[in-house]
Amino acid sequence: MIRKTRLFTPGPTPLLPAAQFAMAAADMHHRTAEFRALFQKVLAQLKVFVGTRNDVLLLASSGTGAMEAAVANLTSPGDKVLVLTAGKFGERWTGLAKAFNLQPEVFSAPYGETFDLAQVRAALKPEHKVIFIQATETSTAVRHDIQAIAGLRDQIAPDALLVVDGITGLGTTHFDVDGWGIDVIIGGSQKAVMMPPGLAYLSVSDRAWAAMETSKNPRYYFDLRKERKNAVKGESAYTPAVALVAGLGAALDYIAGQAGGDLEKGRIALIDNAQVNAEATRAGLIALGFALFAPTAPAAAATAVKVPEGMDSGAVVKALKAKFAAVIANGQGEMQGKLFRVAHLGFFDYLDTVALLGAMEHIAKDTLGLPVKWGQAVAAAQEVYANQQRR
Ligand SMILES: *Cc1c(COP(=O)(O)O)cnc(C)c1O
Repeated sequence: MIRKTRLFTPGPTPLLPAAQFAMAAADMHHRTAEFRALFQKVLAQLKVFVGTRNDVLLLASSGTGAMEAAVANLTSPGDKVLVLTAGKFGERWTGLAKAFNLQPEVFSAPYGETFDLAQVRAALKPEHKVIFIQATETSTAVRHDIQAIAGLRDQIAPDALLVVDGITGLGTTHFDVDGWGIDVIIGGSQKAVMMPPGLAYLSVSDRAWAAMETSKNPRYYFDLRKERKNAVKGESAYTPAVALVAGLGAALDYIAGQAGGDLEKGRIALIDNAQVNAEATRAGLIALGFALFAPTAPAAAATAVKVPEGMDSGAVVKALKAKFAAVIANGQGEMQGKLFRVAHLGFFDYLDTVALLGAMEHIAKDTLGLPVKWGQAVAAAQEVYANQQRR
């Protein structure tokens, strides 16, 4: 039988064909009226996609570049900051804070869990300059409650900036960026916007712009003030990733097109799509006898699933690839071998979910030796889908 390669990984995610065509056709120079019009269009679309009136900037880097830009631009050496971490991406904030000689106070939740809000309240201090957090911790597939954290900030440390790694949160979670006072939220091209890696984007509040003026960190490539000045003219400070910008415009057009051309409604539809596919996947895999790694606060970006005691999640990853050319993700770091992760963010639809669950039935039976009745996982997903249609 032939096999079609399918990515079910939480970044890179499957590519949108219309975006691939737009990238292939983008042979323009970046200091031209043609590119300026494209760049301005995409920046305006990104504001709607993020759901903010704040400035949105686009950088030629992976997501971590924008995380570093946030740290470099908003802080000074010695600053006390609070890092809320519950996985590998949270730990990246700690690493960045240390690299820039900040004094990070690290509040951790165990892998697979989100934060206890009473404990966050106790950890937060008025002298914290910045709070760093993920919206969704992709390594454990946990969603954090950004609205609640923003509320605690307002009560206890109103001057603290809230910086959210929304790299897998955007497009999978509803945010009120301006209403909650999220000062910076970061996204990446290889996640919900259906693009290859290479672009990061971030929104920046007025408070965050003000903080940049007093920061004592050195900045050059990631000087966001320089990017903002250029963005006003429809340009970027250095050579932009022209083809990726064209592709991103096409992807955002597609997302708008899913809701009659209204990008805000398209964003909501994309988020709801991820949430329903995540719920269907959870139901299907539980029906097969698996346990969720993050049962209390599961993300819609991805689902993390434990394998039964004594089994290796790598065997599931390998078997899916060998038998069906379907690529899922293993656990990261210490979680490798213990869990596997299936993505729902971006260009995934319900049929992808049904197909993966059907394949998982084969793997559960043949690779893991679980007792499987054909259709067991698929039926549970269909139940979720049918209920969702009635809502
Ligand atoms: C993918 C991802 C990143 C960014 O990683 P890059 O490899 O730098 O693009 C950061 N945070 C989260 C939560 C992610 O899922």
